[in-house]
Amino acid sequence: MNPTEVLVVGAGLAGLHTATLLAERGHDVLLVERRTRLTTAIRTTGIFVRKTLDDFPLPAECLGPPIRRVVLYPPGLCRPVTLVSGRDEYRVGDMAPLYVAAADRARAAGVRISLGTRYAGRCGAGFVVVGPHGPRTVRARYVVGADGARSRVARDLALDRNRHLLIGAEEVFSVSPGADPPTFHCVLDPSLAPGYLAWVVNDGRHAHIGVAGHADRFPDGMRKALERFAKEAPGLPGADRPIEVERRGGPIPVGGLLRRIGCADGLLVGDAAGAVSPLTAGGLDPCLRLSSLAADVLDEALRAGPTALTQYDGAALRAHFRGRLLLRRGLAQVRTPAAAALAFGLLRTPPGQAAARRILFGDRSFPTSDGRLGWRGGH
Ligand SMILES: Cc1cc2nc3c(=O)[nH]c(=O)nc-3n(C[C@H](O)[C@H](O)[C@H](O)COP(=O)(O)OP(=O)(O)OC[C@H]3O[C@@H](n4cnc5c(N)ncnc54)[C@H](O)[C@@H]3O)c2cc1C
Repeated sequence: MNPTEVLVVGAGLAGLHTATLLAERGHDVLLVERRTRLTTAIRTTGIFVRKTLDDFPLPAECLGPPIRRVVLYPPGLCRPVTLVSGRDEYRVGDMAPLYVAAADRARAAGVRISLGTRYAGRCGAGFVVVGPHGPRTVRARYVVGADGARSRVARDLALDRNRHLLIGAEEVFSVSPGADPPTFHCVLDPSLAPGYLAWVVNDGRHAHIGVAGHADRFPDGMRKALERFAKEAPGLPGADRPIEVERRGGPIPVGGLLRRIGCADGLLVGDAAGAVSPLTAGGLDPCLRLSSLAADVLDEALRAGPTALTQYDGAALRAHFRGRLLLRRGLAQVRTPAAAALAFGLLRTPPGQAAARRILFGDRSFPTSDGRLGWRGGH
């Protein structure tokens, strides 16, 4: 058995961030990732919100131009509502180089990264990982489940698991800057995106065309919905869609942060912990913030003993999501284009627009803690 202090499973942003922070504090960390390259099978559009950009040192060369303009469309795309912020609200990450940069930072901190290595379960006091040279058992004081929405680590640690999932898919391709400023287009149409949104993000460098919703409610399946949307998608004047496009997709947990996300043997971060805004389905800011807390807790547990782990309490943090969970349930009830068109009427009123601005341009992010451990950015 190879001993290590912390075994992190999954090299998405949550796993990379947790592993880096722990290694920077002098801990021995092994990070295993089943993909052989971090630049393939990307599962995110990569829209980072202002609060994340303010608080975490993401490499500027991996970020697209700032976006201030959001256009909201009803079914049929008639009479959209345009909202413009006075501040830079979003930037889209160039995710392949961004993951590579995060992995470089992790390695520089001392993290041992094993790509092409799948976590396969517990075995007595150890954890089995299967790499290019076959299975081996890793003995670790703690395991971190950063293995996404359908976490195997959560199951093995008998922690809570995501039950409410949307699925999403998108196409990505390069574009040239057009006449319009960088814009995030959102279409509320349950026949394209049942229970969520269809979107186009065009920042003048890349276009992302996507749909997400409840898997069982797409009238002809998600792929067909994406094909249909790609033909009529707004916000792409003159952008010639190449025949070959990058395809991304995956599950999105929207049931709110899970209650039991830690135990004596380890904890969950990112999508594995359900750390995604139930309303906007944004998970990048939550995964970074929860990973910072996880690293604080594990650092203390490794130095002072396992009682520190009791502070990693999803139930307490989950209370902050109550409003967003209610709004998500409301959105899930909008089941027909006619109902969506009716609900869209609210966005044409000043109170409706004020509410939309709060959601899209607000200062809220993943709940912060006033507790002793506090929340840290990645600085
Ligand atoms: C289509 C789509 C678009 C999205 N767009 C946005 C957006 O624009 N902005 C935003 O804020 N959020 C967005 N989200 C949500 C956001 O991408 C996620 O919340 C975030 O990326 C979660 O990061 P993570 O590290 O927890 O999980 P992931 O990035 O899913 O990483 C989990 C990793 O674990 C690995 N893994 C899994 N099982 C094993 C195993 N057994 N052994 C080894 N490795 C394993 C996987 O290969 C993967 O690399 C989107 C989600 C989807 C699906």
